[in-house]
Amino acid sequence: MSAMTMTEKILARHAGKEVVEPGENVWIDTDVLMTHDVCGPGTIGIFKQHFGADAKVWDREKVVIIPDHYIFTRDEKANRNVETLRRFVAEQNIKYYYDVGTPAYKGVCHIALPEEGHTRPGEVLFGTDSHTCTAGAFGEFATGIGNTDAGFIMGTGKLWVKVPPTLRFVFTGKLPPYLMAKDLILAVIGDIGCDGATYRAMEFDGDAVYALGIEERMTLCNMVIEAGGKNGVIAPDQVTLDYVNARNAGNRPYTIVKSDPGARFISERVYDIAKLEPIVAKPHSPDNKAAVSEVKGTRLDRAYIGSCTGGKMTDFRAAAGILKGHTVKIDTFVVPATSEIARGLKTEKLNGQTLESVFLAAGAQIGEPSCAACLGGPSDTFGRLNGPLRCISTTNRNFPGRMGHKEAQVFLASPLTVAASALTGTITDPRDCL
Ligand code: SF4
Repeated sequence: MSAMTMTEKILARHAGKEVVEPGENVWIDTDVLMTHDVCGPGTIGIFKQHFGADAKVWDREKVVIIPDHYIFTRDEKANRNVETLRRFVAEQNIKYYYDVGTPAYKGVCHIALPEEGHTRPGEVLFGTDSHTCTAGAFGEFATGIGNTDAGFIMGTGKLWVKVPPTLRFVFTGKLPPYLMAKDLILAVIGDIGCDGATYRAMEFDGDAVYALGIEERMTLCNMVIEAGGKNGVIAPDQVTLDYVNARNAGNRPYTIVKSDPGARFISERVYDIAKLEPIVAKPHSPDNKAAVSEVKGTRLDRAYIGSCTGGKMTDFRAAAGILKGHTVKIDTFVVPATSEIARGLKTEKLNGQTLESVFLAAGAQIGEPSCAACLGGPSDTFGRLNGPLRCISTTNRNFPGRMGHKEAQVFLASPLTVAASALTGTITDPRDCL
């Protein structure tokens, strides 16, 4: 039998085939379909249009609905979207729904999915959000799809997928204390460009990847879409399995899948991480790479620490380590990705002080768990750039208008770099603060 990559093996299993080849089109069975408040109403509309007003979803336990984007706002259209989700969930008796204003509320879907046990090795996860690729950190095939595809999956549980070829990225060496996964993935995107992995799987490997915690692996996989990647993937190890086994919703059995020896990768890049520096992506593209040392001193108006790439406990531990005992010089917004992380900020301590009190004492503002200003949102969104401000942010996109105002300038960086910059009001190398 031909040697296959992880991505090929997962797709072959879900197509009921022994072998698949890159470029081949196959019908894939879906393990989980995720949607949220922005794309859920459109998906539901397409599902009803094509399958009938009284149609039932193919599996009420495999559709996961997570309102997260435009949540804490008075905007009527945003609130109407959540109402549409509620009606659909009640009508379809959807098992996994994380409603706003209830104890079940979670926040950012890509972090909520693993926290609530919906990510498992070897599975196929489709989501109506481009950063669904985050879940590749759990050794599964996870990718973003449009509302039309999602409406079709709701009715059938299947999707027609072209098997992507795989690019391999190997990180070796010991991660220095001033670098995070964000620096690694910004380095990759800067090297290969925003279209460098278009419709390709990006598989991460190497001792430096396996030394990362699961949240940092999620950050790596999250941003493959910024290089055009179809999916990002990391083979499961004990770290993955410990996380998954502690949370697995419904205790579903799963299969560990790894690339075969001799599997064909269309290219391989090897990074010695000891040689990397803290990186930023300058406005207005995630591939507009610069070493922090090259843009050091650039004046800023705002710092933002949140989102699915920068709002996890690992991100806040890193930021708090820099901010503790100091005062920010610019408006600094902290947004936990999920309610679980928000609770963690209140309980986890750094030298006797909770992370929440470290941030508040430093002068930062803390928002409710959600996407908040990562995608701009309505004008009353916490942290939104409502003017032509210059912001350094742990988010994952910096296209014009992404965080609000079209003339705002957003620099993407790690939580370490964002926290260091918040203290000076200019882009600052975290090595100057550690
Ligand atoms: S935090 Fe940002 S990137 Fe992540 S799902 Fe929300 S809007 Fe998208």
